[in-house]
Amino acid sequence: MRLFDTLTRTEHDLRPIAGSTFRFYCCGPTVYGPAHIGNFRTFVLQDVLRRTLETGATRTLHVRNITDVDDKTIRDSRKAGQTLSDFTAGWTAKFQVDCQKLGLLPPHIEPSAVEHIPQQIAMIEALVAKGHAYASDDGSVYFKIASFPGYGKLSRLDQRELDLGKTQNTRANADEYEKDGVSDFVLWKARRPEDGDNFWPSPWGEGRPGWHLECSAMIQEYLGNSFDLHSGGVDLVFPHHENEIAQSACACGGHFAAHWFHITHLLVDGGKMSKSLGNLYTLADLETRGFTPMEVRYVLIGGHYRKPLNFTLDSLSAAREALAKLARGARALAARMGADTHLDSAGFGPFQPAWDNLNDDLNTPAALGGLFTGLREAADLTGKNAAAALAGFNRVLRALGLALPEEAPADPANIPEPVHALAEARWQARLAKNWAESDALRAHLAEQGWLVKDGKDRYTLEPAP
Ligand code: AMP
Ligand code: ZN
Repeated sequence: MRLFDTLTRTEHDLRPIAGSTFRFYCCGPTVYGPAHIGNFRTFVLQDVLRRTLETGATRTLHVRNITDVDDKTIRDSRKAGQTLSDFTAGWTAKFQVDCQKLGLLPPHIEPSAVEHIPQQIAMIEALVAKGHAYASDDGSVYFKIASFPGYGKLSRLDQRELDLGKTQNTRANADEYEKDGVSDFVLWKARRPEDGDNFWPSPWGEGRPGWHLECSAMIQEYLGNSFDLHSGGVDLVFPHHENEIAQSACACGGHFAAHWFHITHLLVDGGKMSKSLGNLYTLADLETRGFTPMEVRYVLIGGHYRKPLNFTLDSLSAAREALAKLARGARALAARMGADTHLDSAGFGPFQPAWDNLNDDLNTPAALGGLFTGLREAADLTGKNAAAALAGFNRVLRALGLALPEEAPADPANIPEPVHALAEARWQARLAKNWAESDALRAHLAEQGWLVKDGKDRYTLEPAP
């Protein structure tokens, strides 16, 4: 599989740098409210990357953290009158439910920042000892970016902005800041009254870790100095990932991430999503409007991850039609297989181009297109060939993480008596393992516009697409 890398601005093959497992880290949610569908664009694309690797027989180790201590979680837990841990536990649980509904595979490891305070303190100690960090008078500790010549490579901060000499004595204490705020950034924040009870002891006095540090510490803990891929939305390139590189390279050495995968932002109605504009959607908002999580997932993978994707409610309606069409196509293909063909082929058949698209810089919109083209090409296939095509279709579908809507079984009251009799005769033939007879009756039913679907103990009838 090939994928664009933010650091080198070129496509690279994705292969484990060591051993046979592809080990990757994704910056996870800040759990101070419900995740919005922009966040889920990023998480869904990371999921498709993992599923594609796994469908291609590469084992993965997926680590995604929970940010449960930072400026925002502390501020809002206090506003809610809850302890930080109660507050973040509630939002973490909601996030995980949304992930499950959207078909996201749970990460193999999901560490939280609060559970890794000692590791973060140890990393700061290493940085101070090596001259890359210093304590200020109030007991906060800052990373000295002038001490790391590689600073700014990932985000290509231009030289003018990054005259490291100029950053001396300028410091950012907030977790988040913009490009014009290039400055020494905070590793440890001295306790302030607005932190309430949220502080920990450290060699520099009571306080709490800065946001950027948590990922470096958890990566060191679970993936070591060098690992295969690091990912997040584009907003994380600067300063978050730039700061992670600085911290990890200076504290631990090693290569850090071999590959950087950044997902471009989701826009809503052509603009930025924001609470104040009233266009910030959560999964719950869309479910309330009658859409399913799979329709949301379909929309989120409907654009290439390197281009902005514009979300509209109309696109969800289009996704509903597209999913229904895929489901009809798959059912028709299954019907042409013949009842008793169980062939598990390894290839992709007419869905090879769709699979190739996924492996070519994770081109999800082209892969979706390839599913429809493949179904058209497979229209004349029967028996074993239809079965092989269906296996390929299902494999691409699994890599995309899509589940197709089931068609409701026909109301038995609406099934004409002769059709019912044919279906019963076929079921009896099947029970008697009279496959030829059962296939002939199935074909006969199909001619009359009915599909038979066999269950374990019974069959259902559906009008043919
Ligand atoms: P946060 O919970 O704010 O830490 O963000 C979680 C993830 O969502 C990060 O990888 C962000 O970069 C990503 N993200 C935030 N907003 C958007 C958006 N509008 N579109 C795509 N990804 C986003
Ligand atoms: Zn991070």
